[in-house]
Amino acid sequence: MKIHEYQAKELFRQYSIPVPEGTVALSVDEAVEAACGLNGYPVVVKAQIHAGGRGKGGGVKLAGSETEARQHADAILGMTLITPQTGAEGQLVQRLLVEAGQNIKEELYLSLLVDRETASVIIMCCREGGMDIEELAEMNPEKIITVNVSPSLGVQGYHLRELIFGLGLPKEVRKEFSELVSKLFTLFVECDCSLVEINPLILTADDRVIALDAKVDLDSNGLFRHPTLLNYRDTAEEDPLEVEASVHNLNYINLDGNVGNIVNGAGLAMATMDIIKQAGAEPANFMDVGGGATAEMVENGLRIILRDQKVKAVLINIFGGILRCDVFAEGVVKAATAIGLNVPVVVRMEGTNVEEGKRILNESGLNLITAVDLQDAAAKIAEAVN
Ligand code: GDP
Ligand code: MN
Repeated sequence: MKIHEYQAKELFRQYSIPVPEGTVALSVDEAVEAACGLNGYPVVVKAQIHAGGRGKGGGVKLAGSETEARQHADAILGMTLITPQTGAEGQLVQRLLVEAGQNIKEELYLSLLVDRETASVIIMCCREGGMDIEELAEMNPEKIITVNVSPSLGVQGYHLRELIFGLGLPKEVRKEFSELVSKLFTLFVECDCSLVEINPLILTADDRVIALDAKVDLDSNGLFRHPTLLNYRDTAEEDPLEVEASVHNLNYINLDGNVGNIVNGAGLAMATMDIIKQAGAEPANFMDVGGGATAEMVENGLRIILRDQKVKAVLINIFGGILRCDVFAEGVVKAATAIGLNVPVVVRMEGTNVEEGKRILNESGLNLITAVDLQDAAAKIAEAVN
C-alpha cells in the first residue's frame, strides 16, 4: 500500500527521524494558513500524490511570501500532475503539504528495501541524491553504496561505517546520519514496509541531516497487524476498478492490453497472461480469484472486467477443483445474464464435472465460446480481438 509523503513524515516523526516542519492542506486557504503558521519564508508547497518526480512536473514550488504561497497552492491544488511515474494521464492533486524551507548544503539519496534473495533489508545510499537518481544508477552504479542487514540482528556499527566511509561523509554529520539510519531501519521492520526512500536526504548548512522527501510503501499482507496504518489508505489515489476488486477480495491489477482475463490461482494467471501474449494479444489485467473461489467471486470479477472500456474480449481460465466446473458455469451464466455481455467471452475449464459445466455454458444461449484447452483458448481469443 502506498501512502502520501505527509503521512510518511508523520511516521518519521513518531520514530524521531528529522523532517521539516509542515502541515497538510486540503484547500488554498488552509495552505496559506499553514504557510503563515511556519517560522517565516521561504516555504515549500508540495503536491501530495502517490507518485514521485513531482518536482520536475511542477508539483513542488518554493514560495518567498504569503502571496506567492497562495499563488503556488492555487496552481498546484486541483492540477493534473504528470510525472515520469504517473503515466501520461497524470494524477489529480487533492492534497498539499506546506513545509518550512530548508537551507540545503547537499542532497543525498537513502533507501531501504526488501531483498528477497538474501532475505534481508538492503540499505542503499548515494552522495548524489536529488532528482536524477535513476539516471545515476544507470550511468554510475559504483557511486551507490549498499549494505545488507539481517532483519533479526538489525543495524550494526560496521554497517554504518560502511555507509559513512562509502559516502565519504564529513565528521560533523556522521552521528546524526547513523542515528537516522538506525531509526529508519526500526521503522522499516516494525511497520512491515516494503520500501522506504528518502530522496533527497539533505545536509543543511548548519550540519543537520533531514529527510526532505519521504516515500513509504507498506506491505499490504502485513497491514492486518497495523490497524492504525490502514487509516493512511487514500483510495482516491488508486485505480477505481482495483479499489472495487479489493472490496471483493480479488487480486486484480489493471494493465494496458485489451484481453480481460479471470483465472483461479496466481500461477495459472501468470501462465494465462503468457499465453495471451503468445497468441499475439495483450492482457488487460491480472486477475486471480483465488484457488478457493466461489461462483460469486467469478461473477464480481467478470463485472469489474466488463466495466473496463479497453477490454475487447475476456478469457476465463478455471481449474475446477474446490470450485466445481458445473457450479462455476452456473455462476458465469448468471453473471453474464445479469450484466449483459458486450464482448465475446472465451471459457476454458478443466476439472471436476467439466462435461456438465460445458453443457451449461453451451446451452445458455449467451455469447460464450468454450475452448478445449489453453492453446485453443488462446487462438479463439486472438481471433476475437483481431
Ligand atoms: P519529488 O520530485 O516528487 O521527488 O519531490 P521532492 O520532495 O524530492 O522535491 C523535489 C526537489 O525540490 C528536491 O530535490 C529539492 O531540490 C527541492 N526542494 C524541496 N524542498 C525544498 C526546500 O525546502 N528548499 C529548497 N531549496 N529546495 C527544496
Ligand atoms: Mn524526491
